[in-house]
Order: sequence, then C-alpha cells, then structure tokens
Amino acid sequence: MSRIIHRSLRSTPPVAASAEGIYITDQSGKRYLDACGGAAVSCLGHRHPDVIAAMHAQIDRLAYTHTSFFTSEVSEELADHLVAHAPAGLDQVYFVSGGSEAVEAALKLARQYFVEIGQPQRTRFVARRQSYHGNTLGALAVGGNEWRRQQFAPLLMDVGRVSPVYEYRDRREGESQDGYTARLIAELEAEFQRLGPQNVIAFVAETVVGATAGAVPPTPGYFRGVRELCDRHGILLIADEVMSGMGRTGTLHAVEQEGVVPDLMTIAKGLGGGYQPIGAVLASGRIVEAIRQGSGLFQHGHTYIGHPTAAAAALAVQKVIQRDGLLAQVRTRGEQLRGALLRRLGEHPCVGDIRGRGLFMGVELVKDRDSKAPFDAADKVNQKIKQQAMANGLLVYPMGGTIDGRRGDHVLLAPPFIVSEADIEDIADRLGSAIELCLGRAA
Ligand code: PLP
Repeated sequence: MSRIIHRSLRSTPPVAASAEGIYITDQSGKRYLDACGGAAVSCLGHRHPDVIAAMHAQIDRLAYTHTSFFTSEVSEELADHLVAHAPAGLDQVYFVSGGSEAVEAALKLARQYFVEIGQPQRTRFVARRQSYHGNTLGALAVGGNEWRRQQFAPLLMDVGRVSPVYEYRDRREGESQDGYTARLIAELEAEFQRLGPQNVIAFVAETVVGATAGAVPPTPGYFRGVRELCDRHGILLIADEVMSGMGRTGTLHAVEQEGVVPDLMTIAKGLGGGYQPIGAVLASGRIVEAIRQGSGLFQHGHTYIGHPTAAAAALAVQKVIQRDGLLAQVRTRGEQLRGALLRRLGEHPCVGDIRGRGLFMGVELVKDRDSKAPFDAADKVNQKIKQQAMANGLLVYPMGGTIDGRRGDHVLLAPPFIVSEADIEDIADRLGSAIELCLGRAA
C-alpha cells in the first residue's frame, strides 16, 4: 500500500510514467487519451517545447525568491500580459499557487476593501448551491457541494445561498428562458434583502459551473442581471474562473461572453496548464487603490506567491495560446466535440443532457430520460464510467453528488486545446462505448 494519502485510502491509482501531447502512459505501458486535461488543467498537452524551454531558462537564472524581499521580472511580465488580455478594469494581479488559494485571496481582498472604505459591517458572502470553489475552509464555505462540505460544515462560515443556473432541471414547463433568468435574479435580490444588502461583501459564482455539474453555462443575461443587482447594493461580484477561464470556453475569460466585468476574478488551472502550480486573482484597480490609500497593505500572503518558475511556465503557456490562435481553435473543436457527442450519445436513453462551451462539455446521465430521474447514489454510475473509460484508454472527469437534495451523475470533458478533429471523434467513440458497457446500448 502506498505511503501517500491518496483520495481513496483503499486503492492506489496506476503510476503515470510519461506523457506526450494529449496522451499519458502508465508504468505498464498503457496509453490514455486525456480528454479532461487532468481536472481541466492541461490546455497545451504535455511536453510543449516552448514551456519547457522557458521553465528551464528561468530555473537556471532564478528559481525562487520570496515576495517580502523581491519581485521578479518574469512575474511582473506575466502580470502585464494578464492585464493586457483581461476585461477592462481588471488591472491588478495577485499570484497564488492554485484555485483554492485564489478564492481565499479574492474573499479576503473583498472583505479588506470594505474595511478600508469604512463599511466593516459587510461580513456576508452569497453563493450558489451548485458550485465548487475549492477545498480550503473559506473556499469550501462558499462552495455548495454538500458531499464535500458535510463533515466540515460546523467549521465553515455561514454563507447566503441561492439557486444555480441549471436550465436542464430547473426551468419550468412553459417558462421562457428570460422568465427563468428573471426568477433567478429575483431570488438573489431576496437573499440580499434577507441578509441586509448593506451587510453583504460579495456574490461569488462560477461563470460556467464545472466540478459539481459538468459545464453548465449561464442563461443569456443572467450575469448582466447579477451585475446590475450587485451595483445597486454596492456588493462586489467575484467570478470564479479557476476551471472555466484561460481559454477553456473559447474566449480567454468566460465572462467575456456575458458582457460583464466582475470586480474580482479567480483563475488557475489553465493559467499554467499543469506545468507548474499557479493561480491568480485579477482585481479591479478600484479595490486595490482603496487598500493602497488606506492601510497600504493587503493582509494576506503565502510562501510561494509570485513564484518565478511558475510565472515563467504560465507566461510561456499564455504566449503560445495567443501566438497559435488557440482560442479560435477551442471554439471550432468545441463545436466538433458537441456534434460528435450528439451523434454518438444523443439518442442514448441514459444521456439526459449534453452541454457546455468551447472545449468544456458535460454529459448528464439519468436513469430515465423522460422523467430525468437520476441514478441512485449506490449505483456509483459516474465512477463506473470513469473506470470503464480508463479501461478503454480514455480519461474523463466524473462527478456525482447531491445538489439541492437531488442526485446527479455527470461526466466532464475538457481536452487540451491542441486536440485534432480525429481525436475528438476518438473521444466521443471511447466515451460512447464506456457508457454503453456500463448502461447498455441505445435501442
Ligand atoms: N474553483 C473552481 C471553480 C474549481 O473548479 C476548483 C477546482 O476544481 C477550485 C476553485 C479549486 O482549485 P484547486 O483544486 O486548484 O485548489
């Protein structure tokens, strides 16, 4: 038995030995097509020569320095690059080592901003039920994944809760899309009123929901409604794009498709593409300026913030994305993936919904397509499909759990941006056969 505390304490996963492009090979020589980029991380695939060269040069020059003594050329350059490509107004960057740290930093920046401007009574966050924002205690508190929260609930801050955008299950019979969106915005307003809007720091939401429900996009106008409401009450909007950001949905930031600019935005996974652990908060200059004019010190920090080698890797990844036109490629391949999934699985009686944006697609599995009845938790459907897909040489990200008292099984696909059209067909085919082997064939 391994000495590492793996997620499952009863089994040890296969040992990954090497990787190339979109494939990972284990110690036994078995090759896996990585159709989920790990956890929607690997955007350029493996062994990209530009990223390796940039990291090598950086380590050779300056691997690490602590930000209480120095900044580094490469982290300053990365910050400039991110701001140059961010929605207007997000012009300050706080570097961290991953997604949960980014969310923690965003929560604290938001809180400190209100303390500095003389509104210390703002102590509440509002977030959505179907959401995942990370596993550290602050991030877990704003997240809505009951399964992950359960044991730790007594330790978590009390967060206001509203419904997610989840058209497949929650838009009522005969309700228009606009009517559904308006209902969600009214619910958010009611929650603000319940807490007292003057007491709320921020509304936190994933732009496209990832790890709890498999690539669920917002309805048109939802984030515009949220933005207006937040502005009316002086509440900040924190967009969590740890998973959906950095090109995954076909624009660098998913919010670009919503026509709004959040006050704080978290990014991570695709920022470094897995070459190094790195995340960041993109912050409105207004927030940082208030703290600069006030105490002059952001009361937060970690040992590895602004890590030069991580910054070098991320800068190289981001330059390749721009130079090689990969955002346009994500849009094209994303539509091909949607088409391939619909052709291969669209008629399957256990496939309830195929959704997503760009190379960020989810498949929702149901016991009965007409009633949308979910599988029982004991069936462990998403885990079985993950295992069968692995046996088929395919990596997909399984999700299951209880949200708002309802069960759900989902499979997330988030392949590297460099996938070819043939790879896309291969992914749909291998996933299709894994689903058929677990749940039977379409009639
Ligand atoms: N926020 C979102 C939207 C995520 O999907 C995740 C991870 O899946 C996190 C935060 C936490 O990121 P990390 O696992 O890097 O701490």
